[in-house]
Amino acid sequence: MSVAKQRLITDLQRGGITDERVLAVMASIPREAFVSRTFVERAYDNMALPIGFGQTISQPLVVAAMTQALDIGARMKVLEIGTGSGYQAAILARLARRVFTIERYKMLSRDAERRLLDLRVHNVVFHVGDGTKGWPPQAPYDRIIVTAAAGEMPMALVDQLAVGGIMLVPVGPDPVNQTVERVVRTEHGITREELMPVRFVPLVAGALPTYEA
Ligand code: SAH
Repeated sequence: MSVAKQRLITDLQRGGITDERVLAVMASIPREAFVSRTFVERAYDNMALPIGFGQTISQPLVVAAMTQALDIGARMKVLEIGTGSGYQAAILARLARRVFTIERYKMLSRDAERRLLDLRVHNVVFHVGDGTKGWPPQAPYDRIIVTAAAGEMPMALVDQLAVGGIMLVPVGPDPVNQTVERVVRTEHGITREELMPVRFVPLVAGALPTYEA
């Protein structure tokens, strides 16, 4: 393992990542493959980096902490909203049976798909569209992770969670200060719990304006 990567793994452990499977997967996925050439030198810095279209690849500690909190089992079906670079999807794919990931920018989705094929990750299904609606054809999901900040709890996604399922979603109208909430679906309804403060790009509902699509 490179010195930079080793340092990042140590940072993750210091930041509270104790799940050995999560640490092993974070060590196995080359983050430099998910950033533009301009930022390769900083691929193992513990920070979010730009990926174009005003979007970012999330901070490694946040990726690891959310992945750990998802508590993914090997037979699970996972839905991710906000494919971005595909980095989080690659990590989920190594832990779950199948991952469905939705991105509103076609270009980001295509680039992410190509990266995962290059890494021989084949259990991810990519969709382009508005992820706030989820992906009903494959519902219910054992786990759902939203990697963009929702102004309020996206109820369409809650409805696609299996009983006993867990969803992690950053919630808050503030553009620089949101809270990851853990939603657990029970037989009778849902429970909500605040986990950690984060800063994500916004989850934007609806179709892209044509000049952006
Ligand atoms: N998980 C990504 C980081 C995502 S950044 C990674 O590992 O790199 C958040 C992403 O959510 C952006 O790419 C943004 O375009 C996307 N996004 C925002 N609103 C969305 C929506 N309603 N549906 C699907 N994707 C959305």
